[in-house]
Amino acid sequence: MNYQERQKVVTIDGPSGVGKSTVSRKVATGLGWTYLDTGAMYRAVGLQCKQTGIDLKNAAALAELLDKLDIHLLPPLQEDSDVRVLLAGKEVSEAIRTPEMGMIASRVSAIPAVRAKLTALQQAMGKNGKIVAEGRDTGTVVFPKAAWKFYLDASPKERCRRRVEQLRAKGQQVAPEEILAQIIERDQHDRERSIAPLRMAKDAMLIDSSRLNAGEVTAWMLKQVRGHVDSLGNVLDADNNK
Ligand code: C5P
Repeated sequence: MNYQERQKVVTIDGPSGVGKSTVSRKVATGLGWTYLDTGAMYRAVGLQCKQTGIDLKNAAALAELLDKLDIHLLPPLQEDSDVRVLLAGKEVSEAIRTPEMGMIASRVSAIPAVRAKLTALQQAMGKNGKIVAEGRDTGTVVFPKAAWKFYLDASPKERCRRRVEQLRAKGQQVAPEEILAQIIERDQHDRERSIAPLRMAKDAMLIDSSRLNAGEVTAWMLKQVRGHVDSLGNVLDADNNK
């Protein structure tokens, strides 16, 4: 791809519990750009499906639910807190961030109609650039022309440790062995689905964060972006998006 066609967008993809949210928030703050948590949107759809008790195989009912879908993402209240999510005007930020909702999100995210709807919403949110998008397919499907693509990875054991710490900090009682099993199951599901599977974009930069903290990963990413070097090593004019 010609680098002049690239969008002023940072994408950060990777498996569950790798620390994408923390790093993405910090990178967005560092650049003064908007942070787009695409996982929160899949979680919100999962919650809506759970609340309505819809049969996920009922295409017509699902189409109706997606048609009426009313999701709003609001900026985090503090630098280290999550994006706030409104579903039909009601705050669901905490309700969507449980291990159970992670599993439900993984299930609904394999449904083509759900992906089509959320991908279109995400692309609309990013159309003017200056966005840091985080998820599983942001560099491959949602923003294939993003100028800076990162793929963040870490061992399942380390990801489990971080996820347990994060959930306990939120006051949720969790068993590490259950979290590890969920991480492995969710990874497998996200990697093996036929539509928009989790994988590294060909032009993404890979970072194994097993031995790096969030501050170190953020500093490295910001250096790539501020250096105006895109994922292919081309020089970008940051102001003109060229
Ligand atoms: O990132 P998070 O854990 O909040 O994502 C929840 C689930 O949503 C993931 O396990 C994945 O199945 C799905 N997801 C996705 N594509 C994205 C973001 C999340 O399929 N871009």
